Amino acid sequence: MQPCLAVHGGAFSRPASTDPALRAAWRHGLHEALRAGATVLEGGGSACDAVVAAVAAMEAGGVFNAGRAAVMAADGERHLDAAIMDGARSTAGAVAAVRGIRHPVRAARAVLDDGRHVILAGEGAARFALAAGCDAAPADWFVDFEAPEVIQPARDTVGAVARDVQGRLAAATSTGGLRGKLPGRVGDSPLPGAGTWADTRVAVSCTGLGECFIRTGAAHRLACLVEFGGLDLAAAAAAALRRVTDLGGDGGCIVMPATGTPVLALAAPGMARGTWEGGVRRVAIDGDESLA
Ligand code: ASP
Repeated sequence: MQPCLAVHGGAFSRPASTDPALRAAWRHGLHEALRAGATVLEGGGSACDAVVAAVAAMEAGGVFNAGRAAVMAADGERHLDAAIMDGARSTAGAVAAVRGIRHPVRAARAVLDDGRHVILAGEGAARFALAAGCDAAPADWFVDFEAPEVIQPARDTVGAVARDVQGRLAAATSTGGLRGKLPGRVGDSPLPGAGTWADTRVAVSCTGLGECFIRTGAAHRLACLVEFGGLDLAAAAAAALRRVTDLGGDGGCIVMPATGTPVLALAAPGMARGTWEGGVRRVAIDGDESLA
């Protein structure tokens, strides 16, 4: 089986900035994520390990709304959401509204590996993650948005979907959620079936206005349209996103099939996105831009 990886760094609800430095930083962040995940897959590693590596690279990169550059909630704190799902085993792990953890995706992975629960939230999630060996995030880990040279993430999220040499699929998503959100708000990213999903046919990671992805069960709807509706990936992704836009939302998703090429779909002016396929990394930002 040909291993393959796709990543996103969030959908934009307005046309992406034309600032060359900012666009270069996004492209670099996408390439770093693809490189990290591809290294795992090339070494024969699992799809689960690949999506964690790719998402952790974007959490550390400081240019997307996740990990270091996560946006702040209304109380000025970072309350982070992340999930991972292993399609081959139908297992999932997630953390919601967690604080003080450097890599929420690794905390989500620890929940999956532990196996007792699927989602841990708030204080309990942070305590669990630290006890499981995840690194704490000191205050200076986070990007200081007051600093003038700092790139301001608006409302993005990061995600990855992978297929390994054994044909196993996995998806992971990580985010700071919406800027100024109410503390305690949980978005779609950590909810299997809403913002993240993987089974034996597809792996999906979404980005966009989370409330609409939750209300439409977007990621699982997409998977059902493939499994029961017989739609191809692009049609299923478009149909799932149409339900989101019908509710006034916007966004996008990346989808990895068990065989063939990933689909990167958007119902928004742009989405930082990229693929690693046949050993080649390609990225794009604007909606009408081809991967290059
Ligand atoms: N879906 C994320 C959330 O609502 C935000 C985003 O993807 O832009 O938390």
